[in-house]
Amino acid sequence: MKFNTIPFNKPYLTGEELQYMQQSIRSGKVSGDGLFTHKCHTFFEQKFGFQKSLLTTSCTSALEMAALLLDLQPGDEVIVPSYTFVSTPNAFMLRGAKIVFADSTAFNPNLDATSLEGLITPRTRAIVPVHYAGIACDMDAIRAVASRHGLTVVEDAAQAIDSYYKGRPLGSLGELAAFSFHETKNIIAGEGGMLAINAPRFVKRAEVIWEKGTNRSAFFRGEVDKYNWVDVGSSFLPSDILAAVLWAQLEQMETIQARRQAIWKRYEAGLEPLRQQGIGLPNIPAYATNNGHIFYVVCRSLKERTALISTLKQANITPAFHYLSLHRSPFYATRHDGRPLPWADHYTDCLLRLPLYYELSDSEQQRVIDVISQFYWSQQLPLVRHQARRVAAALPVAG
Ligand SMILES: *Cc1c(COP(=O)(O)O)cnc(C)c1O
Repeated sequence: MKFNTIPFNKPYLTGEELQYMQQSIRSGKVSGDGLFTHKCHTFFEQKFGFQKSLLTTSCTSALEMAALLLDLQPGDEVIVPSYTFVSTPNAFMLRGAKIVFADSTAFNPNLDATSLEGLITPRTRAIVPVHYAGIACDMDAIRAVASRHGLTVVEDAAQAIDSYYKGRPLGSLGELAAFSFHETKNIIAGEGGMLAINAPRFVKRAEVIWEKGTNRSAFFRGEVDKYNWVDVGSSFLPSDILAAVLWAQLEQMETIQARRQAIWKRYEAGLEPLRQQGIGLPNIPAYATNNGHIFYVVCRSLKERTALISTLKQANITPAFHYLSLHRSPFYATRHDGRPLPWADHYTDCLLRLPLYYELSDSEQQRVIDVISQFYWSQQLPLVRHQARRVAAALPVAG
């Protein structure tokens, strides 16, 4: 039987995007900081309690804004997990910082907060936890280290919209936090991002950096009578047309999140029996919530993952692995201090993400679960037979 193809991701659009884009175009102001940008900012500030929100063209640019706000000097050090997207360290590299990579935990791919003390030097300026799969890092432990050493915490919350740590929204726990609205995330604008600013000392300057180093935002509000070049900055604002797309998504956030979480829970329930066959499933600490961003499995070896990928592909299902440990990347390997980071390497080799998108149907999802189940049960068979032979050999011969 021939099945339709199940892609890894399918961007979901709510249907209101075009209408809002038209509204933005008709408003006569399609550059940044317009009507829909303001709607989005207010939404984030009210819903998640961020002190200030600034939409950006990507999470990458929000991280670059954070690096500018930190006023990093060449040789300053920033601690980043090795198991993350390139943009997390790259934003700080651009400012001449030295990246000190932290390992992941055995429990899940988030950075190991217990390793932080050992990574701190007099040059350390910031810690950048990445909430992998939207599951919170151990923020109390990270914040404690940061306050002991006077460091800034920048959350890479690219995957973490509408997820919580001890009831507090992710993105509100660092002095700064960066979100992504790339088409692979839960809430999308095609490309897009946001910087959340939670420390009063950064608020004013963030707005200037956002507007090419000028005080244009204050000028628009009538606070100054001309705008001028007052600091460094760049063009970080998205067009209001993109903010219109984002607004259409934010209006439907609860529906989108509920559907993604339902799919996530169905994967967990369907694959749970395979734990005894050796499959690893996402571990969520008691302090964290799950926002249905990524469902992953952890295979026992690279070989097993390669075989599982090929089995899924034969069934027209497209899984995706990702994040090649950055401390071993072509760009950074020669710059890294040589410490082995075994858990980052483990997830590099063994983690596999399953299709998860709004329009994934129950029957399609069941196919994914069935193919993985068959893969693990059939792998087990030779072992069972082998064990059975050993048992039989050990038994006294009847008669
Ligand atoms: C997606 C992602 C980014 C980059 O987001 P863009 O909006 O594409 O720049 C950065 N960090 C993490 C952890 C991500 O998942």
